[in-house]
Amino acid sequence: MNTSVTMDKIVSLCKRRGFVFPGSEIYGGLANTWDYGPYGVELINNIKKTWWKTFIQEREDMVGVDAAILMNPRVWEASGHVGSFTDPLMDCKKCHERVRGDKLLESKIGVEDVVKLSLKQISELVHTHKIPCPKCGACDFTEARSFNLMFRTYQGVVEDSAAMVYMRPETAQGIFVNFKNVQQTTRKKLPFGIGQIGKAFRNEITPGNFTFRTREFEQMEIEYFVKEAEWKPLYDGWRESMNNFFVQTLGFKKDKMRWRQHDDNELSHYSKETWDVEYEFPFGWGELWGIAYRTDYDLKQHTKFSGEKLEYLDPETNEKLVPHCIEPTFGVTRTALVALLDAYEEEEVSPATDVKPADVRIVMHFKPSIAPIKAAILPLMKKEPLAGKARELFAQLKKNFMVEYDESGSIGKRYRRHDELGTPFCITIDFDTVEKDDCVTIRDRDTMKQERIKLSEVKEYMQRAIET
Ligand SMILES: [Zn+2]
Repeated sequence: MNTSVTMDKIVSLCKRRGFVFPGSEIYGGLANTWDYGPYGVELINNIKKTWWKTFIQEREDMVGVDAAILMNPRVWEASGHVGSFTDPLMDCKKCHERVRGDKLLESKIGVEDVVKLSLKQISELVHTHKIPCPKCGACDFTEARSFNLMFRTYQGVVEDSAAMVYMRPETAQGIFVNFKNVQQTTRKKLPFGIGQIGKAFRNEITPGNFTFRTREFEQMEIEYFVKEAEWKPLYDGWRESMNNFFVQTLGFKKDKMRWRQHDDNELSHYSKETWDVEYEFPFGWGELWGIAYRTDYDLKQHTKFSGEKLEYLDPETNEKLVPHCIEPTFGVTRTALVALLDAYEEEEVSPATDVKPADVRIVMHFKPSIAPIKAAILPLMKKEPLAGKARELFAQLKKNFMVEYDESGSIGKRYRRHDELGTPFCITIDFDTVEKDDCVTIRDRDTMKQERIKLSEVKEYMQRAIET
């Protein structure tokens, strides 16, 4: 039996248990869209809350913003997205499949060399290498043309180009354009940073792998402003913080993570050093987070395009300077996918015998702080006085924790359901609770060990477990 995690197993569990549903499902869906269900939204919110607390609220040098998704189109001229945020698009003449020309060539000439090619070179190489269409196998493509990945929409009632606006392809620019507003209202001194959580949109030619590459996604981004001379130690400090966030704060498996540095060909023209945090997905290593040193490029570009001087007045030297910028960026959507993959385990509870197959439980080992449900309150049977007592405890815990009351089905089935939801504790109310000792049985998700504790101590018990 293969017990390792696969994308199919995660997709199926997400649908079965209410983490993630296919988007617009009753209408036959909409390609590459996913809706987070009751447990998925809790997981995602916990990840965002944890990030905000760690990187904004607990630090003295950080503040937050929440900028609009629709921005003045000039922003995207300044940032370079209008001119160069493109992929080389090719169409199969036979089946009309749309593909990225550079992706077709990666297996032939290597990722590092593909990024240097012009559109003309890509077209020629796809023809000379006789690369087949991944869908129908024909070797007959159109010439590569440049395809801008930004979504467009129209603001106002007239659909003319004057009212055309883009859906932001990254949250970063909403931070840069507010640099002056934020610095002046908070009176922050360098080095300091601005963080933001929000949705962004990219019209990817080839999205896929469940929620790994979606056209609509959410980011948690930081722009950290520094004096040029001080960038390197601060940059390394941020890498350390990202490491800690992965291993300690979110509790992901350390051996599933690696750092990969971008080489000169991959670097954006303004970036001096970029690293990716990669995760070992079932389909291979893939980008999870990244950190770039963007120099003073962005603030200078916005100064040039807007006419507004985005400078900083050094209170010690009275000198005006344009801060340099370090950008740690985290995908919310990908972090949630990693949380699901990383937590998944199939565990053999009892081996197969001649008469019955092995008993295997699926358990999601989320760190309690990000688990969607912190505890399930289960009366042993669906009758009084057990149900009443259980509801009483539920009402009490609900004020502090996300908990669920569950009375239907056998206790074993209810345990298994909460194992798949990753609920750290199942709290059972039985006849002894009511008649004898005022104690409950707490079952631990990971060890399946049960212990009996006083009803009055349950809240403190959970508090301790969730905080560590
Ligand atoms: Zn084809």
